[in-house]
Amino acid sequence: MDPASKAAIEEELRAALEASGHRFTAQRAAVYSYLRRVESHPTADEIFTNVRDDIPDISLATVYKALEAFVSAGAARKLQFGDGPARYDGRTDDHHHMRCLACGGVHDVEAEVDHRLKGGLLSRNGFEVIGYRLELLGYCPACKN
Ligand SMILES: [Zn+2]
Ligand SMILES: [Zn+2]
Repeated sequence: MDPASKAAIEEELRAALEASGHRFTAQRAAVYSYLRRVESHPTADEIFTNVRDDIPDISLATVYKALEAFVSAGAARKLQFGDGPARYDGRTDDHHHMRCLACGGVHDVEAEVDHRLKGGLLSRNGFEVIGYRLELLGYCPACKN
């Protein structure tokens, strides 16, 4: 990541956290920049393992608290699948996911979002739509065979 976009991402995070009453810290910035850098929708454990290389004194509890703050500030999304560990997504725009039923891997699908669903169809039936999430289930190339 080039320094300019890293600074821009940190500024975005600072604004989102402060607007929602959360503290911006260097550790949170490191957790967030990792989350924005990867497309793997990591679990808190995976994030912890990776950011620890840069910030040796960070704790798993700090990572959890940081992630909860990002979700509450609208800077990240939490993905919960059944009783598996929650995964986190640095993307907050509407998009689709594909999830491997064998390894649990979650990846983005670059497909068009159907705004008719969110905008009209369901609302007309009295359903208040607050989010859009479409999940495609299957097996990733590594697990397919
Ligand atoms: Zn898999
Ligand atoms: Zn995603």
